[in-house]
Amino acid sequence: MALFQISEPGLSAVPHEHRLAVGIDLGTTNSLVASVISGDTEVIRDEENSAILPSVVHYAADGTVTVGRVALRDAARDAKNTISSAKRLIGRTMKDLDDVGHLPYDLVDDSSMVRISTAAGIKSPVEVSAEILRTLRERAEARLGGDLTGAVITVPAYFDDAQRQATKDAARLANISVLRLLNEPTAAALAYGLDNEAEGVYIVYDLGGGTFDVSLLKLTKGVFEVLATGGDSALGGDDFDRRVVDKVMALIREGLGERELTAAEKRRLLALSRSAKESLTTEAETAFDMTFDDDTILHVTLTREEFDSMTADLLKKTIGTVTSVLADAKIQPADIKGVVLVGGATRMPSVRNAVREFFNVEPLANIDPDKVVAIGAAMQANKLAGNTSEGEDWLLLDVTPLSLGLETMGGLVEKVIPRNSAIPTALAQDFTTFKDGQTAMAIHVVQGERELVDACRSLARFELRGIPPMAAGAARIRVTFQIDADGLLSVSARELKTGVEASVQVKPSYGLSDEDIVRMLQDGNGKAEEDMHARELREQQVEARRILQSTVSALEVDGDLLNEEERREVDTLCVTLVKLAEGTDIEALKAGIEALTKGTEVFAERRMDRSIREALSGMNVDDALFDTEVDNSEKK
Ligand code: ADP
Ligand code: MG
Repeated sequence: MALFQISEPGLSAVPHEHRLAVGIDLGTTNSLVASVISGDTEVIRDEENSAILPSVVHYAADGTVTVGRVALRDAARDAKNTISSAKRLIGRTMKDLDDVGHLPYDLVDDSSMVRISTAAGIKSPVEVSAEILRTLRERAEARLGGDLTGAVITVPAYFDDAQRQATKDAARLANISVLRLLNEPTAAALAYGLDNEAEGVYIVYDLGGGTFDVSLLKLTKGVFEVLATGGDSALGGDDFDRRVVDKVMALIREGLGERELTAAEKRRLLALSRSAKESLTTEAETAFDMTFDDDTILHVTLTREEFDSMTADLLKKTIGTVTSVLADAKIQPADIKGVVLVGGATRMPSVRNAVREFFNVEPLANIDPDKVVAIGAAMQANKLAGNTSEGEDWLLLDVTPLSLGLETMGGLVEKVIPRNSAIPTALAQDFTTFKDGQTAMAIHVVQGERELVDACRSLARFELRGIPPMAAGAARIRVTFQIDADGLLSVSARELKTGVEASVQVKPSYGLSDEDIVRMLQDGNGKAEEDMHARELREQQVEARRILQSTVSALEVDGDLLNEEERREVDTLCVTLVKLAEGTDIEALKAGIEALTKGTEVFAERRMDRSIREALSGMNVDDALFDTEVDNSEKK
């Protein structure tokens, strides 16, 4: 989750020099480039007057590379060497991918990232994306009449570090300097927020070709705050296409019997299904002819009504995601002031109807949903390049996808920054030592929703040393979590009396896939009760160990205050408690703690008397007080 202090000091250009900056929507299905030209944001078109560049690259055996519509034409006759949806593969290893069965080309497993085997050699998704970016750069430079200063490139909100890094690498390969990566829904919000000066809580519903993203945004004059994000990395317009394919396959089975389609036939059928779907956006009925390799033809007709009922479950799924994002942010559908539609698939009337019905408002779509992300990115690029005047700054906040916290005694997690907190943010919490005379503290930073450390993800460990020796619980260690605008977390620990300090920088959420995040969230919800029991048990175990520890150290110093029989009683209580602490019976453990506390009351009183006497005789005042504190904690 990167992002978003938009005005950047030091970048401001020589007066009147206009820097050529663009926004690029590098989509799974389609990519676009836009720029602010003479104050207006314009999506830049190619020679054929098309704004949309299909994210498709064809590799011929002779090394010729074609991109976009031209490559799409190759798809039907040379499916194996025509790469689409590279974005689904970028920054991913084979084991990250669970649904690659429908891809018509050959994937090569690689420990760092999957690669694609083509007639022109093995290509990585980074190279494929670089071809798309290079095409867009050339298109922009032709229109703008000069070399680009840089670009803002958009990525899905849930892209992890590997995917973001791979996207940056692709830009570097395409000779583009990246001003910043920007989350797609956030770019859309920029486009709407600035154009419309809208205020209130809005939701961005982005249904593209391959991904579904939901973001909850709070817009106030000049400030965008992302309250929450969610989504489904495997749901998009492609799934609607596949429903049409399924229908046709059923027809084929009826008429021609069971038969496998060739790769070219599959590709042709997919393209026909997609355009049938798209025509149903404006027409009530559509028809097409599917031609097979043996020149037989299947005539297919489809009504919008049929199509809508074939795909109703997909819409329901998106609404389910919306519901959980709202629940996370504790916002009612009625509190939503507006819904921003993003992504080509939101052109479908059924999407608009579902959204309208759920929220009871007319969704916002006055900026073309295909272009809104590129437009927002272009506006930010223009800012970052220093082309805007002062006073036009705006700030955009993002959120942390998972809670961040610390490991405390017994392997428990103390959350310091709850999930979906707006960033940048800084939160501090005070901790204390566990043992008498403890001079160092191990700080373990974790991320996740569960109560137990083992179920969360470890982000970093560091040690605070040089704590002055004090009684357990007397030291005050303030741990501060700070997340900057780029999503970078730093954690520092400071002992308040002496000021000794230690810190570490970690990247939150990085290295976690969408699936990891979703799984960790689901785990957190379903396991709450189980966790609570485990938490209470661990708390009692920690308490038992604490009281045992202080009893043992008190016996070492002042054991002579007890007679033999008294000593035996205390020893027995200790042994019993050690055993109980190894078990799982919380009630018995509590009783054991209680018994040892009561059983050492007399001992504690005698120790207190002795310390007071020592203090009064002027000896070793510090030690006397020190011991007194130990006694007090024992009685608690
Ligand atoms: P991405 O962000 O994944 O690149 P886009 O926002 O460009 O995707 O959306 C692509 C999807 O939008 C495709 O599934 C495409 O079929 C769909 N789409 C585009 N135009 C229409 C339309 N008129 N009706 C229905 N779907 C459309
Ligand atoms: Mg998109």
